[in-house]
Amino acid sequence: MKKLLTIVAIFGIAAILSAQNKSEKNTMEKAKELAKKIIIVDTHIDVPYRLEEHFEDISKRTEKGNFDYVRAKEGGLDAPFTAIYTPAHFENEGGGKELADKLIKMMNKIANENPDKFKTAKSIDEIIQNHNNGIISFVYGMENGTPIEGKLENLRHFYDLGVRYVTLTHSKWNHIGDSSYDDDKHWNGLSPFGEELVKEMNRIGMMVDISHVSDSTFYDVLKITKAPVIASHSSCRFFTPGFERNMSDEMIKALAENGGVIQITFGSSFLSGKLKDLRKQRSQTVSKYVKENNLSGDAAKEYRKKYYAEHPVPYADVKDIADHIDHVVRLVGVDYVGIGSDFDGVGDSLPTGMKDVSDYPNLIAELLKRGYSEEEIEKIFSGNIFRVWREVEKISSELKSE
Ligand SMILES: [Zn+2]
Repeated sequence: MKKLLTIVAIFGIAAILSAQNKSEKNTMEKAKELAKKIIIVDTHIDVPYRLEEHFEDISKRTEKGNFDYVRAKEGGLDAPFTAIYTPAHFENEGGGKELADKLIKMMNKIANENPDKFKTAKSIDEIIQNHNNGIISFVYGMENGTPIEGKLENLRHFYDLGVRYVTLTHSKWNHIGDSSYDDDKHWNGLSPFGEELVKEMNRIGMMVDISHVSDSTFYDVLKITKAPVIASHSSCRFFTPGFERNMSDEMIKALAENGGVIQITFGSSFLSGKLKDLRKQRSQTVSKYVKENNLSGDAAKEYRKKYYAEHPVPYADVKDIADHIDHVVRLVGVDYVGIGSDFDGVGDSLPTGMKDVSDYPNLIAELLKRGYSEEEIEKIFSGNIFRVWREVEKISSELKSE
């Protein structure tokens, strides 16, 4: 009798497990279908600067990096905002505008050479058209306003080239405003030029991106802007206490009130305070050794690489990304959250299950498991950023006709 019960129990558990497997498989299949069906916009992929440092043919599967055509198609990605990124030191050294022009030219060339795979897009309509033709859109977002170089005509120049948002600062304060990463709060928010810039961005229909800026810069922007703003790649400070680069609950509420959107970013350090601390400690240990032993250039890089390989730290998980999305939804609702991965920009820190652009279905599956509807998932993957973009264009045409 006892034996029989055991056999029944084993069969019972096996049946439950197989049903679970089947339902996981169904969810994954549904997620993959959905990824193909809906438009996926990722508002921050650092592929231009990656190629500037180490060129590869991204029309084929590449060995390095997190983005290429083949993997983007696998993941259902339609429109990456490719980051026209300028490192902070260009602010004082000059040459930022030249670098930005060069990166845009390079991305245009890649699109022109692969017309069946990539096309540049300057509007939502063009993204939709490209999606219908199975083509991936390159949209440009400028990371760091340094290339504006204090001239509003440069802003218009970049708009004409297809840049549709400007992240006002990067890791240091610049002529536009203060940065979250910089202890020197030079302007205590936006600079006088930064205020003019935000107004001109409203007028010409360019989205203002508040990722990377300090808290007071963020609140200054909200005081001035007539249009909703975006955080192109930021996560929730709730999970990373004290980390100014992420947004606090109060800021997320203020952003939603403004009609804007926070695009959750994927790096492990942005998702978990514990992992951020571990990574910081490891980095500081290496920096100390490098300094004490007078290592520089490639020797320092090599040492860091070797040390990191020998001292691995855990990664966040795709579930953590869903936790951040849940958090924003709990705070302000499903209309104010999206995704801005920072693929090709955060090195070896991407979460398990979200290592490159082929992995978006894993996040969709996680959201389906948590009860998100298809409509809600579509909002997160493109609907919300499209709403903000449309509103920015509407307000621009109103301001122009004033
Ligand atoms: Zn960034």
